[in-house]
Amino acid sequence: MTKRAILERSEELIDLAYQTALEGNLDLSRKYVKLALAYSSKARIKLPVSYKRRFCRVCLTPLVPGLTERRRIRSKILIRTCLVCGWIRRYDTRDAKKLKGIGGGRRGKDREERVHSRDERGDKQALKGSQSR
Ligand SMILES: [Zn+2]
Repeated sequence: MTKRAILERSEELIDLAYQTALEGNLDLSRKYVKLALAYSSKARIKLPVSYKRRFCRVCLTPLVPGLTERRRIRSKILIRTCLVCGWIRRYDTRDAKKLKGIGGGRRGKDREERVHSRDERGDKQALKGSQSR
C-alpha cells in the first residue's frame, strides 16, 4: 500500500471510530483508533491534526461532545475533558489555528466556527443554570 492509501485508510478508521462511539460501542471505537494509529505509525505518516484531535490521546476513545467529552469555555479558553479517563486539554479560542480540527472533525473553517459558537452559547446557558440554582 502507498502512504497515501494508508493515510486514507487511517482517516476512514477514525471516522468509523467516531460513528461507533456515537452508537455507544466505546470498546470497538477504541480498537478502530488503535488500528488507525498502528497503520500510520508503521508507515511513518502523520495524521492531520483535525483527525488527531478527534480522539483522547491517553485512552484513545473518540471524543464525542456530550458522550465521551465535556467542553467548557472559561475566559476564552476551550477546555476539553475526556469523560472516560479524565484527560484535559485547553485550547485558546482567540487563536483560530489552535482550534483547527475541533468541532466534529470535519474540514472547513465555517463549520468549526459554527460549532465553536454553539459550544460557547451552551456554556453560557450552563453558567446561567448553575447560578440560578
Ligand atoms: Zn481519555
